[in-house]
Amino acid sequence: MSEKEDMLIGRALELGLRAYTLETKYIEVENRTRLKCAYGCRGYGKHLSCPPHVMDIDEFRKILKEYNRSLLLIEEYDMSNEPDILKAWSHLRRESFHRMLELEYLAFRQGFTYTQLLRPGACNECEICAEKCRKPEFRRFPPEAVGINVEKVMDLVGEKLVFCDASDVKCVGILLLD
Ligand code: SF4
Repeated sequence: MSEKEDMLIGRALELGLRAYTLETKYIEVENRTRLKCAYGCRGYGKHLSCPPHVMDIDEFRKILKEYNRSLLLIEEYDMSNEPDILKAWSHLRRESFHRMLELEYLAFRQGFTYTQLLRPGACNECEICAEKCRKPEFRRFPPEAVGINVEKVMDLVGEKLVFCDASDVKCVGILLLD
């Protein structure tokens, strides 16, 4: 691990995030993730950060091959006492996204010219997306939106993604480096 990666991990910890270095070649991209977006997600078509408004999976697969290193970023919450989980999740992922974005900016300043954050969940910087993105400087897509199997990525570092458990909610992002 390089000194710069060490520094990014240190800053992630200060921001309340767990961070793990990953060799990008181990990140699996699967076509089947698109099924979960297109058939069953109530937000399908509504977010400019998600399918069908983002690049297709094959295009992303090619782009990912140009990266060598990345950081898996995780922020964990206990939401079991939240009266309105959906509202709380919306707030959490926005806040978490901004912490992760700070790391992307920091990585860029450290010389990782092509660094790019894959954000936790769909973008919710605005109440609803307009036809054209209102804040393109914040537009990032989640890993799942381009076919990344997040459960498998978490397995690589010994983390677990638990579904339907309000006491263990995780915001997960991937910061591509290089
Ligand atoms: S910045 Fe606003 S318009 Fe753009 S993708 Fe995010 S929520 Fe949608």
